Amino acid sequence: MIRKLFNLALVVALTFTVAFAQQPSSTTPSVDRLRQVIAYLASDALEGRRTGTPGANDAAHYIAGEFNRFGLRPGLQIARPARTRGETQSRYLQPFPYIAGVELGKNNLFFVNPGKADDSAQFKVGEDWMPLWFSANGQVENAPAVFVGYGITDSALHYDDYDYDVKEKIAVAMSGTPDGDNPHGQFVRFEDVRFKAIAARSHGAKALLIISAEDKFSDERLARLRTDNSAGDVGLPVAVISRKLAARVLGLADLVNLGVFETEVRSGISRVLKYEAKYYGYRTSMNPATNPVKPGSVNMASDLLRRESPSFNVIGVLPGSDPKLKSEAIVIGAHYDHLGRGGEGSLAPREGDIHHGADDNASGVAGLIELARMLSSQKLKRTVVFIAFSGEEEGLIGSSYYVNHPIVPLANTVAMINMDMIGRLKERNLIVGGVGTAQEWRSLIDTGNAVQGMTVSLDKSDRSNPVIGVPVVTGSNGRAVVMLDPGKKLVLTLNEDGYGPSDHSSFYAKQVPVLFFWSGTHNDYHKPSDTADKINYEGEARIVDFVDRIIRDIDRTDKRPTYAVAKSESQGRSMGFRVYLGTIPNYVESNDGLKLDGVRDDSPASKAGLKAGDRIVKMAGHEVKNVYDYTYALGEMKAGQEYEVEIVRGDERMTLRITPAARKQ
Ligand SMILES: [Zn+2]
Repeated sequence: MIRKLFNLALVVALTFTVAFAQQPSSTTPSVDRLRQVIAYLASDALEGRRTGTPGANDAAHYIAGEFNRFGLRPGLQIARPARTRGETQSRYLQPFPYIAGVELGKNNLFFVNPGKADDSAQFKVGEDWMPLWFSANGQVENAPAVFVGYGITDSALHYDDYDYDVKEKIAVAMSGTPDGDNPHGQFVRFEDVRFKAIAARSHGAKALLIISAEDKFSDERLARLRTDNSAGDVGLPVAVISRKLAARVLGLADLVNLGVFETEVRSGISRVLKYEAKYYGYRTSMNPATNPVKPGSVNMASDLLRRESPSFNVIGVLPGSDPKLKSEAIVIGAHYDHLGRGGEGSLAPREGDIHHGADDNASGVAGLIELARMLSSQKLKRTVVFIAFSGEEEGLIGSSYYVNHPIVPLANTVAMINMDMIGRLKERNLIVGGVGTAQEWRSLIDTGNAVQGMTVSLDKSDRSNPVIGVPVVTGSNGRAVVMLDPGKKLVLTLNEDGYGPSDHSSFYAKQVPVLFFWSGTHNDYHKPSDTADKINYEGEARIVDFVDRIIRDIDRTDKRPTYAVAKSESQGRSMGFRVYLGTIPNYVESNDGLKLDGVRDDSPASKAGLKAGDRIVKMAGHEVKNVYDYTYALGEMKAGQEYEVEIVRGDERMTLRITPAARKQ
């Protein structure tokens, strides 16, 4: 033990002396600089930096300015020199497509019993009904409405609300599931109405209407349009309707009748499920005789406008100094976008307040800028690409775009270092992810952390106050003194997996070794209260110092880190699925089949012969256009049973056979 430390300390003393001789002031992170950057990014002025908003774009220009100040080259090289400061800055910006808003178009119409003199009033969009944000645009003419219970089909659970023909008809479903309020229930995935829409579509319905559970339609959450960049529209018009309109569509006299009817259906279904453990359509198993529905017919048109908005990754380049190794790159990344004023992704009870995102992830960006400053004064052999990503909170959109449009080829990208939420160091506990993605990572991290505990002094007089019992070493020049101070060492939690909830996932999916630094979650996570005053600046400086050391250690050897397939820590999101395939879906480019970013080693997917880059277009008999369709099909599959999966690989369309495994709960 002692010997190991002793040897290590000697090495440290030597390296440190060399490094120190170059640029003393710029080699350590500055607490003041971190404070400055976070103060600005987390300020009210930037309004929470939601991707596609002016606040996010102001942040992008600020980061570009900082990259420029520290001598980084713009990521986008153009032959002609820039004429203005604005032009120089824009060369650091890599634009990517992003839908920032969904709005009502002009052509939204709703009539019940059209053509009948007594009952053809138009119902107002926004007051009586609202297309859902993933609704397709389109019209339905004079289509009979059919009540379909909860609107759920789940063959593995022997449950089907669609036990009758809905082709060319409009399906009308209640909100919620037979689980009631149980968050761990079997039907939990249908809490996401998008899956009800897919069920309606796959049964051939023309459109789906969801009956609002709110007495006041203005309280209905589903009626709030939001953006969804992860998939296109669902393929049929889908709307939520007020209770008043629902009563009209179902041919019930009034709201009281609707309430009684719903209660009977709900209790009827749970009774059947309880005694028979299966359920196929309310009419065959029970009879709400006291309140029969006489659904009418509907004319409707839904029209949503999806607004694209400029969004950017910010990229600065520090060219390598070694004639050969400079063609290789180390990417250092941190996302700068956050949640704006709430909405999708927010954990705040209400929308409207600025989500400051000081820890998530102004802290990582501050670390990124500090590393740009520190490393620009060093001579690194390899090229370092600094990237502040956007679109992270909405599903790694910016980093996903980058790995498909890299400025240094990914084959030459030897490592990706990601910092996301490094501002809340508690008792020196740091989480490092991706440790299994390169053979060298573990020892590099261990050494780096051992070194972190070393206090180095150039003057022997500093020994006046040594820590008792700590080894003291004199360097070969007779001057450097190294003391081990266990209080400075970080307490590391190492995770093998290269996939995780941040931008490094995009790189690991492309076989780039990754490391992910994270000081852990907290009560202010994704809430307006994630503010600059709660940042542990000294702690963050310590993390940045550690990351800086790791990067220089990676660069020190000519041999690049050896990519390794890491053990997975989790099997992805658990949404009540019973089966596991081991695919890594691309959430961004999946509108025309589900594109795979990767396939886990030794998984059912890899055994089936699926590969990164494949596009799944059909699975277990279900058409797959995007990740939702895929998830729906997954929900219909059983472990141990073989299914066909149709894919597009390059120009070829092929059918493979896949046998899902049971998900370990
Ligand atoms: Zn976040």
